[in-house]
Formats: sequence, C-alpha cells, structure tokens
Amino acid sequence: MLQPAFTIGSAILDLSYLIAAVLFVIGLKMLSKPDTARAGNLWAAAGMLLAMITTLLLHKDPQGLLIPFRNVMVILLVISAGTVVGWIVARRVKMTAMPQMVSFYNATGGAASGLVALMEYGNSGNTSLLVTLLGIAVGNIAFSGSMIAYGKLDSKIKDWFSPVMKYINLFMLLFIVTLIVIVMLPGVKGDVARSLVYLLFFVSLVYGILFVMPIGGADMPVVISLLNSLTGVAAAMAGFIYGNQAMILGGILVGAAGTILTILMCNAMNRSLLNVIVGAFGARESIGTNSGINGVMREITVSDAGILLNYSQKVVIIPGYGMAVSQAQHVCSELDRLLTQKGVDVRYAIHPVAGRMPGHMNVLLAEAHVPYEKLVEMEHINPDMGNVDVAMIIGANDVVNPAALTDPSGPIYGMPIIRAHEAKNVIVIKRGMGKGYAAIENLLFYNEKTRMLFGNARDVLQKLVEEVKTM
Ligand code: NAP
Repeated sequence: MLQPAFTIGSAILDLSYLIAAVLFVIGLKMLSKPDTARAGNLWAAAGMLLAMITTLLLHKDPQGLLIPFRNVMVILLVISAGTVVGWIVARRVKMTAMPQMVSFYNATGGAASGLVALMEYGNSGNTSLLVTLLGIAVGNIAFSGSMIAYGKLDSKIKDWFSPVMKYINLFMLLFIVTLIVIVMLPGVKGDVARSLVYLLFFVSLVYGILFVMPIGGADMPVVISLLNSLTGVAAAMAGFIYGNQAMILGGILVGAAGTILTILMCNAMNRSLLNVIVGAFGARESIGTNSGINGVMREITVSDAGILLNYSQKVVIIPGYGMAVSQAQHVCSELDRLLTQKGVDVRYAIHPVAGRMPGHMNVLLAEAHVPYEKLVEMEHINPDMGNVDVAMIIGANDVVNPAALTDPSGPIYGMPIIRAHEAKNVIVIKRGMGKGYAAIENLLFYNEKTRMLFGNARDVLQKLVEEVKTM
C-alpha cells in the first residue's frame, strides 16, 4: 500500500491516533471498576471522537488527497443520524434488555466491517488480500450470528438443535478457510475470484446463523462475548485495509477484551472455547431428567423471614435476574442498611453470569448505592457459605442450582454456582414456580433448609423492610 508523504498534517494525525489509543486503554482500565466505569466510558469515547475528527480533517488516500468535502458532509450526516437513533434507543432500553441491544449494535459493527471489506476487494494490493477476505468472513459471521443472538435474547427466535449441527458447522468453517485459500492462489483471478468472494460473503453469513442457532440457555453470554470479539477483529481488518491506525487499535482492543471475557466466562461456566466455535456447545439433548427431586417445598411468612434475618449474624444476599426484572435493588439496599444498623453482617454474593449480561448485578447494586466492598465474587464467598446464617436469594435460580454439581445430564452441569445450599438457612424470593434461564428444576427449592417466600421481589422486600423496622 502507498504511504502518504510525511507532512505536518500526517504527523498531527498520527499523534492524535496515539492519544486516542492511550485514552482507549485508560478507559478500558477504568471500566474494570464499578466506581470508575462511567468515567472510563467517557474517556474512551473522547479518544474515539478525537480519532474521528482528525481522520475526517487530515486523512489522505494513497494519492495524497484529503477526504472530499462532499463526502465529509455525507459522513457527518450519517454519524448524526446514527447518534440520534443510538441516543434514543439507549435511553429507552430497559436494563434487562441491554444484552439484546449490545447484540444488535454488535451486528451493525460486523456488517459495516464486512461490507467495507467487500467494497475494497479488488482495490487492495496482494499484501492486504488476506486481510480483506478475513474481514469479509469475520464481519459477516459477527453480523448474522449477532442478529440471531439478538432474536434469541428477545424471544423472537427459538433454539434449534440437531446432533448433526456440529458436523455441518465444522464443515462450513473448513469450507470458509478453503475458499479464502483458493482466492489467494496466484492463478485465481478476475470473475472467477470475484464469484468466489461473493460465495465467501454468503457462506460466512450462513455460518454465523448456524453457529449460533443451537446455542441456548445458560450458554448465551459466552457466545455474545465471542461475537463481540469477532466484531473487534473485523473492525481491525477494516483498519488494515485503510491503513488507519486508530481503527486497527480500537478493533484489536475490542477483540482482545472480548476474547479475555469469553475465556473468563467459559471458565465460569466450565465450557471449552472449541465447543463454542463448532456450535455444539450447550446444545441440550436432555433437560436434566436426573434432577433427583424427592423433597417437599416449604414456605415462610414475611414476618418469620423478618425475624430470621433480624436475629442473624451473617446474611448473604444472592441477587439474580428476578431482582433486575422487578427493579428491587433500591429496596434491597434499604433492607441491607436496616439490618446493618442492627449489627447484622450483610454481604452480596455475585455470580459472574447472574442476570442477563456480564456485570448485571454490579450495575444494579451500584445504582442503588450499595458499597462496592459488600459485593463478593462467587469464588471468594463460597468457602464461607457454611458459616452464613441466612442466604437470601432474590430472583436467582440457575446460579444457585445444585444440579450444576450433581446432574451430569443437565444443561448447566459443570457451571460453578454460589453454594447457597451450604448456608444454615436459605430464603428464596420469587413469584412462583417459574424456571430459570436454563429451563430446569432447582433442587435447592426442595432442600430442607430452604424456605420459599413467594411474590414479586420488590413487593416482598418492601414488606420485609416494614417488618424489620418494627423489630
Ligand atoms: P434465572 O436462572 O434466569 O432465574 C431468574 C428467576 O427469577 C426465575 O426463576 C423467576 O422465577 C424469578 N423472577 C422473575 N421475575 C421475578 C420477579 N419480578 N420477582 C421475583 N422473582 C422473579 O436467573 P439467574 O439465577 O440470575 O441466572 C442467570 C441465567 O441467565 C444463567 O443461566 C445465565 O447463564 C443466563 N444468562 C446470563 C447472561 C449474563 O451475561 N449474565 C446472559 C444471558 C443468559 P419466577 O418466574 O417464579 O418468579
């Protein structure tokens, strides 16, 4: 690729990309802690804004020409429209629908990168041909896969699994690699090569669909994070095509962060990454028929639950999806404050995939001003669960289901759980007999130490607050 000659403009452009990269890294670092996450987002966004402005004003094509004014206007118009739509959607979306929104935005990133790569096929020299082809494949897989993930999370698309899927997916993946190799061969040129590129475009789209279709239940967070990293990689490819360092850096950071998160989540759910890629992962041939339920379910009144909590020394609250749905975090925090004032040691056990997105519980509890030091990660709280007087589960189900430890036929088998069943007493707040995301029975509800407190989480907690206040 021709490099534009060195000028003051190009030096300023390079410097701005360097500053943007530093801002991205600072932003990412700040995102890793709840108290700095909001500001981290702004720092990274400032880096992106800087890179966009300097690119529009100073970027030159290989012939040394700036972006034509008319094109700048069109780009600004499209950015403005996108900003308005993004702003409105982000303000309106419910916290529980956040994963769908992330998937949808992810899809648009993948589509943009795939289309850029397709448009630039033929314009790129031999050195960037591989990057162009990878950009098409990865961008399209990220697009169609994310759209299917969006549909599934929004209950518009159902899981579809067949045992032959993993072989079909493996074949498709090999076919995509073979197509890329063939187009790269020196003798393959002109219309033949172009037709193969269109075939690659199409097959990658189909692979994205087939790869996500069988994945369901408890495994969705991993696939969303994987697709997110794919979008980052596709954006980096597009950056290579245009020789744009900011795009390369941004893409690589997203790709790397997504990959690390994918690996962490795989570990949290005891799954292998290879299985995710071939699409066999999490597919349910059984829905936990060996659950071994043989106890009876016992209820508790609000008044008895209040007494139990009030006279405990150690209480661990285990929040889950139901707390998010009922927006019970504020009243939960109020109950926590009341009990703490009475000398009860109250902590929160945070499962990495509780709720419907990574960090879901952290975000909710931070919103309700629960001090960060009260939030304890699963691996740190589990060794102490035996000493806990009351484990109070608020709208969580899968993340405390002992079937993950005992039922090899179940879809969540092998997923680490918060060991609520080891506490001296367990109170479960949920509306009725609704199942969790993985759609299986929960042995814990039939445990002799467990008492069910049925009702909408926010209403039940409000009554508990009134009860504890009178003691
Ligand atoms: P869960 O297993 O989905 O269970 C949520 C429970 O909340 C349900 O059993 C439901 O029972 C109850 N509930 C719903 N609305 C309620 C309300 N208004 N008040 C009280 N209870 C209510 O939740 P989880 O234990 O948090 O586990 C999360 C699951 O989602 C895992 O399987 C995880 O793998 C998956 N997932 C996680 C992510 C992520 O990134 N965190 C993303 C996608 C999927 P009732 O209907 O009886 O009330």
